[in-house]
Amino acid sequence: MIKKAVLLALIICLFLAILSPGLVQAQSELTILDSSAEAEFPSRLNFNLSAHSNVSITDIRLCYAVDRASFAEVISEVYIEFMSSTTVDVGWSLEMVRIGGLPPGSSVEYWWKVEDASGNKVETAPAQVQFDDIRYPWRSLTEGEVTIYWYQGDDSFARELMTAAQQALGRLAEDTGAHLEKPVKLYIYADVNDLKGAMIYPQEWTGGVAFTRYGIMAIGIAPGNIGWGKRAIAHELTHLVIHQMTLNPYNSLPNWLDEGLAMHTEGELGSAFTAYLSRAIAEDSLISVQSLSSPFSAYAEEAYLCYAQSYSLVEFLIANYGQGKMLELLNTFREGSGYDAALEGVYGFDMDGLDSLWREYVTQQYQSAAEVWMQPALAGAGY
Ligand SMILES: [Zn+2]
Repeated sequence: MIKKAVLLALIICLFLAILSPGLVQAQSELTILDSSAEAEFPSRLNFNLSAHSNVSITDIRLCYAVDRASFAEVISEVYIEFMSSTTVDVGWSLEMVRIGGLPPGSSVEYWWKVEDASGNKVETAPAQVQFDDIRYPWRSLTEGEVTIYWYQGDDSFARELMTAAQQALGRLAEDTGAHLEKPVKLYIYADVNDLKGAMIYPQEWTGGVAFTRYGIMAIGIAPGNIGWGKRAIAHELTHLVIHQMTLNPYNSLPNWLDEGLAMHTEGELGSAFTAYLSRAIAEDSLISVQSLSSPFSAYAEEAYLCYAQSYSLVEFLIANYGQGKMLELLNTFREGSGYDAALEGVYGFDMDGLDSLWREYVTQQYQSAAEVWMQPALAGAGY
């Protein structure tokens, strides 16, 4: 038995000698004692590390990568400032004001690289931290690729929103052939104020936000506002679907198509929008398709018209050329195509061509609508 043990020890020594020729040096014992991360929603993510070695720890770096759709993995490496010592406790915060914020439910992968004075290095295994909005007791409901998170209202409230979400997906698939390719999360806040509390840079008009690269949407739906909420879900969900299926490193979608599809999935155009559209037709002040391809005006009145026109442009394309062509258009944009080239390839006209065909369509549509509306009044005038 003793002989065996000696032999084993010898073998191990020989093995170590082969592996590390510099065995004269004292073996360093660099170990990670603790590693953790904690969300302080919505302001920051706190990372902590404790490590020990028999010689001074000289270098610590935190590596992290935000989980979102991209074409090249973006890894950030942070050099941690600390007093060199054999035992160290360090912390570092990812301040959301610096990166523009992360949505609720997003996740970050992180790991540490630690080195001591004897040149020994340790890298921790990658770990995930969820950036959850822990201010509220979320409940969840999943159907297919959609999970709804909510904290105010009963089960039937969430089920009603889920039905709206699934109907919207059905409508979108029917009109465009587009469907969800990956799971999405819908965070339903109890109202707009709660929603604003979840954002680093809240904007006045924010009722709902689609974080398209994360597959996450956040929206404030007050109990008495469920009708609006269902439309908003349909709208933002469309953005998530369309971005999932067209994301590419070369080009974004023209804004009129992105917003027009979102408006179209909501259902019929609201009367506030149709009023802007009919006035612009009457005053000959419609905005060109070229202009609508860029981000919309920040002025509310002009923005209304941009959305109304986008809805109408999408309606025109779907009504006249069908689902197949719309799907082809989206797939063309997925390849990073330019706006004119994509339209030309699929429909045989460019942006200017679309502009003139659509103007004719919408002018006729609104004029005949005005006539239908006028007729009963004229008939009544005979009495
Ligand atoms: Zn939108």
